[in-house]
Amino acid sequence: MLIDFHTHIFPEAIAARSIAALESAIRQIQGEDYRKGEPLTCRPATLDGLLSDMQRTHVDRSVCLPIATKPSQTATINRYAETVRSEQALSFGTLHPADPAWETVLEDLKQRGFCGIKLHLQFQQFYIDSPEVLRILQKAEQLDLLVIFHAGDDIGLPPPVYAPPERIRHALDYVSGKNLIAAHLGGWEQWDDVEKYLVGTPIMLDTAFISQFIDPAQCVRIIRNHGAEKILFGSDSPWESPADTLRFLTSLGLTEKEMSQITHENALRLLGSHIA
Ligand SMILES: [Zn+2]
Repeated sequence: MLIDFHTHIFPEAIAARSIAALESAIRQIQGEDYRKGEPLTCRPATLDGLLSDMQRTHVDRSVCLPIATKPSQTATINRYAETVRSEQALSFGTLHPADPAWETVLEDLKQRGFCGIKLHLQFQQFYIDSPEVLRILQKAEQLDLLVIFHAGDDIGLPPPVYAPPERIRHALDYVSGKNLIAAHLGGWEQWDDVEKYLVGTPIMLDTAFISQFIDPAQCVRIIRNHGAEKILFGSDSPWESPADTLRFLTSLGLTEKEMSQITHENALRLLGSHIA
């Protein structure tokens, strides 16, 4: 069984436009020649695009992660996210740290049956250990909501880095971390600091969009030292195909037990009744 804990979709009407804007942001940061002449995505960025790609790549379930880049978008995005709920796919909700109604939004999401929220502090421009984010993390822990957040550098956004491993470690002084998932194995392109600050803490890490960038030996070291029971398979599709993520993980020589924890056991434990 394969559960992809980190995917993105957009409503039909804005999918193509949103991806075009993100691709141009990536090429602005990485240079115009970055993967020149090829699309940066592996499938249409819609729910239908995700579902047909899942069939092709043998993914059983996907978790979709929406991002509010402005507080005013939260309600619309969460209404859309609520419609993504089926055997194959479910969506987290989103929240912007500057939303004055943050507490009500969280309570409401819990009541509407969401299992968690996604934060992308690089877009939202709040540090992971800022008071605005810490109060969200604390409330989410009380409500038993998962929080997954972009960690480390971002391929399409300029510095500063809003959720680097060192600041994530600092946030763990205020919350247990058990319901937190730091994407991109704890900090994209900051894996030395992941080893320094995050390995061994209760926080979970996903494997999204790392396969082309991380040194395989370091990846194995992080997985083993952190504990495979706290690693989640995530691709970041449409930005990376889950087939490529799986091929990379398979190449690492992990044990069968470690692989089954990463590909589905841990996700089943976290999602529980939400995917029953
Ligand atoms: Zn992502």
